Amino acid sequence: MRFLASAQFVEQSRVADAFVAPSAALANRLLAARGLGRLPPCRVSYFIEELHRPGAAIGLHTKGTANIRLNLAWLADVAQRGTDPEWEVAFVVLHEYAHFVLERLEAREASPGAVRQRIEAEHADFLRRMQRLGGLADPVSRKLLSNHNAVAEEWCCDAFAYWAAGTLPASHAAFLDALLAEVRVPPDA
Ligand SMILES: [Zn+2]
Repeated sequence: MRFLASAQFVEQSRVADAFVAPSAALANRLLAARGLGRLPPCRVSYFIEELHRPGAAIGLHTKGTANIRLNLAWLADVAQRGTDPEWEVAFVVLHEYAHFVLERLEAREASPGAVRQRIEAEHADFLRRMQRLGGLADPVSRKLLSNHNAVAEEWCCDAFAYWAAGTLPASHAAFLDALLAEVRVPPDA
C-alpha cells in the first residue's frame, strides 16, 4: 500500500467500468455470503501508474474507507492475458478490502497490537507448515507463499481473498473465521 498524488487518479473510464463492475459485484457478493454484508461494500475505481516500474502497485485502498483503486495498466494486462479476469480482478479487490477490514478490527481492539500479533503468529505457523510440506501440498497455499507474502499483513490479505471465495485451506480458514467473528453476522440475520 502506497499513496499517490490525487492528480494521478482517473475518475471515469467507461471501458474500465465495464470491466471492473462485474468483478466488484462478485467481490461484494462473496463478502455478503461470508457474513460481511453489514460492513460498507467495496467501491472500485482506478489510477494510472506505469506497471512495469519496480514497486508499481496493482491495487490501493484509501485508508479508513472501502474505496479501492486499481492500476489501469494492470487491468489492461489482465483483460488481454488473464485466464479468469473476473476472479483475478475480484481477488485484488478483496485483498485491498481486507486491509480496510483489518483497520476496522484494529480500531476496536482492546489492547493495541493484538490483531497484528495474531496475524503474525498465524503467518509464522503458515511458513512452518509450508516447510514441513515442502510447499507443494495445496495450490492455494503455494500461491500464498510468495515474496510479497513474506509480510504477515499482505499474506493475511491474500488469505482473506481466498477465504471469501471459500478456497482457503481449512486450517487457515478457521483462523480467519475467528479473527473476523466480531464483524460478521449470521447469513440469516
Ligand atoms: Zn496489500
